[in-house]
Amino acid sequence: MIIVSACLVGYPCKYNGTDNKIEQIYQLIQDNKAIAVCPEVLGELSTPREPAEIVGGTGEEVLDGKARVMTCKGEDITQAFMIGAEEVLRIAQQANSVKAILKERSPSCGSTMIYSGEFNQRKIPGCGVTTALLRRNGIEVVSEESI
Ligand code: SF4
Repeated sequence: MIIVSACLVGYPCKYNGTDNKIEQIYQLIQDNKAIAVCPEVLGELSTPREPAEIVGGTGEEVLDGKARVMTCKGEDITQAFMIGAEEVLRIAQQANSVKAILKERSPSCGSTMIYSGEFNQRKIPGCGVTTALLRRNGIEVVSEESI
């Protein structure tokens, strides 16, 4: 089973209540080859919700306690992101998943680029919190833009 970001298969779970549906990835669900997850919903954040970025680093630094996930209004939601990431890892391990296709640039799901933490649309190299946790546990994570 492949783990896929739920917004990529049509769930309207983005911060603004929309989705990023890609037919090719949706077909993986139709073919029973993929499981859809949204770490931010699994972390019990509401939809819609305030946009959030990692401040002070990337998902790697969040896992190490050296960076935080903040909303644009200054609320620290690191704990929700950690809970969501751990829940995705649990689901992936239960399904014996070795690969995930996650939404690029998200502070949870990004795999090569994320927003800088300045809320000004600037991007930096790095991955989101869920991607970092999956990779640390041996699961390959790629961007939907790479397939
Ligand atoms: Fe999509 Fe991931 Fe954001 Fe959920 S957390 S809306 S799955 S990019």
